[in-house]
Amino acid sequence: MNAINLKANEVQVREVRLGSITGFTGSASELVGCARRGRLEERGRSFSQCLGCSTSNAACTVILIQDGAVISHGPVGCSSCFHEFAFTYLVNGVHRGLTDPSQRRIFSTNLGERETVYGGNQILADTIREVHARTGAKAIFIVTTCASGIIGDDVAGVAEEAESQLGVPIVPIFCEGFRSRIWTSGFDAGYHGIARKLIKPPVKKQPDLVNIVNFWGTDIFTELLGRLGLRPNYLTPYSTVEQIGHSSEAIATVQICATLGSYYGAALEQEYGVPEIKVSAPYGIAQTDAWFRELGRMTGKEAEVEVLLAQERERYLPRIGELRALLKGKRAHVTAGASHGHALIAVLRELGLVVGGASIFHHDPLYDNGAESADALQNTVRDYGDVPRYSVCNKQEYEVVNVLNRERPDLLLARHGGMTLWGGKLGIPTLLIGDEHFGMGYKGLVNYGERILDVLENDEFVKNLARHAINPYTSWWLEQEPDAFLKGGSDERAH
Ligand code: SF4
Repeated sequence: MNAINLKANEVQVREVRLGSITGFTGSASELVGCARRGRLEERGRSFSQCLGCSTSNAACTVILIQDGAVISHGPVGCSSCFHEFAFTYLVNGVHRGLTDPSQRRIFSTNLGERETVYGGNQILADTIREVHARTGAKAIFIVTTCASGIIGDDVAGVAEEAESQLGVPIVPIFCEGFRSRIWTSGFDAGYHGIARKLIKPPVKKQPDLVNIVNFWGTDIFTELLGRLGLRPNYLTPYSTVEQIGHSSEAIATVQICATLGSYYGAALEQEYGVPEIKVSAPYGIAQTDAWFRELGRMTGKEAEVEVLLAQERERYLPRIGELRALLKGKRAHVTAGASHGHALIAVLRELGLVVGGASIFHHDPLYDNGAESADALQNTVRDYGDVPRYSVCNKQEYEVVNVLNRERPDLLLARHGGMTLWGGKLGIPTLLIGDEHFGMGYKGLVNYGERILDVLENDEFVKNLARHAINPYTSWWLEQEPDAFLKGGSDERAH
């Protein structure tokens, strides 16, 4: 297991800590093989379109905490996408049982030219006090940006001083965009700050409490875990500062996406002995069964789990069989973040679709728990077979368009909104599901199968769109190999 050092203010980025990469073309099994043999090599790009930013991912871990407030320490533009989380909070709050969702408290120090020259410590200190006075937040999170990192503001020092004066945790999160090519490093930065400042040593272990590290998915675990005599402790969206503090008292930690939560799970296990489930999340029948059985083993609920699985099979397998017959042989392409992308591949394959290709935003050869059994891509390939055209591509849309133009799948399944438009423009029926719990377990297969049928049957809109859309990419680019601008790719080979 990789040691997590909570004494340090900052967490190492994924490319250093885990050996993660953002460039690869080949098959999924080749990628798994390279990772297992320690031969995973980053293939840099000689041309790149814009990327995501760690700041946004770090913000994702803290903005949805009910009684927290967030300060982006930087130019106001660095927080320009944070409103999306506020919107998500309101829309999805109802699916998480929030009857009266509180307003999100998001601020920016709005660094300008003057602070960039003379330093931003004072404006940060003033902003923390102002935010505390205005919001009464139980914790204030500071997410750093390229500007505050480059000018070398003493964010940790300012936070310490403010914390001692105000009496609430002031949590610095070091997530400057330039730190890492892998924006999911921002998740780790957010959880590092949370683990250092908010998680308290256990007062009394709660043998029925299970930590669930997730995004904003619908609350399905109250019912599912309830059948096992367990309770979910959702982390960190929609939780409170106090709930987070008690996460050390849980009997186990599970993640719906290891790309998101592996750092939190590993920190809880290392610091407080809360065991983490080290198998893939429950997407597809094989991993659903494995996941529930592992949960049963860890919580002493083996018998209850077998009853639950039998009930789920009886209820959903007949419809899953019908959906398989209807979807058999349809060709799909998946574009998503790493671990959830692997889960989506499993869901599609379980439903009988052929996943010929995938464009996945990065690859972690291992997670922070160091367990090979948690390797979601390895598990998907083992359970469902290879994905022949698997690329690791950090949202390089020009690469995705090239691949889609070659493959022309029957379905594009995307996890991120910006990617769906390319399916539409090419006339490919495209499905985007924001709720990460939608595909979980046996019911999730029915959910997805029915939505996919809907999308395939109602393709008139994308067909029309394709007739009128202007493709910004030239025929020259569409004729190149998709890896042309990757190190060792076709462009380099030709010269
Ligand atoms: S932190 Fe850096 S990469 Fe991120 S939005 Fe700001 S300037 Fe851009």
